[in-house]
Amino acid sequence: MELDRRNVIGGSLALGAAALVGEAAEAAVPEQVLFAHPPAFIPVVGTNQRFQVRRIYCIGRNYALHAIERGSDPNREPPFFFEKPTDAIQLVAKGKTTDHPYPPMTKNYHHEVELVAALGKGGRNIKPAAALDLVFGYAVGLDMTRRDLQNAMADQKKPWEVGKSFDHAAVVSHLHPAAKLGHPSEAAIWLKVNGAVKQSSNLKNMIWSVAEQVAHLSEYFELKPGDIIYSGTPENVGPVVAGDVMDAHIDGIYDISVKVVAASV
Ligand code: MN
Repeated sequence: MELDRRNVIGGSLALGAAALVGEAAEAAVPEQVLFAHPPAFIPVVGTNQRFQVRRIYCIGRNYALHAIERGSDPNREPPFFFEKPTDAIQLVAKGKTTDHPYPPMTKNYHHEVELVAALGKGGRNIKPAAALDLVFGYAVGLDMTRRDLQNAMADQKKPWEVGKSFDHAAVVSHLHPAAKLGHPSEAAIWLKVNGAVKQSSNLKNMIWSVAEQVAHLSEYFELKPGDIIYSGTPENVGPVVAGDVMDAHIDGIYDISVKVVAASV
């Protein structure tokens, strides 16, 4: 038995040495990335710069009247967050209506117009007074939502994932740098469907300001440059169907135009 064990140990040492030689040989060969995919970028208005998106955070129920329509108490609940996958970004350029495919598995597809804040710096445990220093710029976005799936999951106390996280679910304009735009806190925000106003409010009606959102998020996650935050939607979210055109506006940011189209089969 003793001999056998020594043989085994000797054998594994020899194997280890062979593995080291193998690693050294492999290091000379360029690394190959399998199934590479392009990163998500948001162009910066008026520049040739592109902002690489790292994570997409979304705040829920951040306008009192929307919180009430979703069945919660707007005065009591702390902000809560969910995420969308980075490759759910759908860019909408200025002055051009962009086709947006109606997603599968839903019969109640909702618009949510939102201010999007994009971080150029990161950190942990950021104080609200310092939080806006992290914000590089802003955009107008649509947190598109399969409401029937979200509600079904919520009823079962299951994650919202299928309701919020799917291809093209993070519609967004190009970024307006805070260096030019400032940090909007009082600005009209609205969304029209086929020319009729559906959502209309003001950023001042947000329960938690962008600074407070950043501060709160940074207690749970280390924020990094490239993170973007969908800051919640005002009341009167509602359905769209194929053929509908959504126009979305926030003062100081160019309007986006998005046409819902039947998914190609
Ligand atoms: Mn939302």
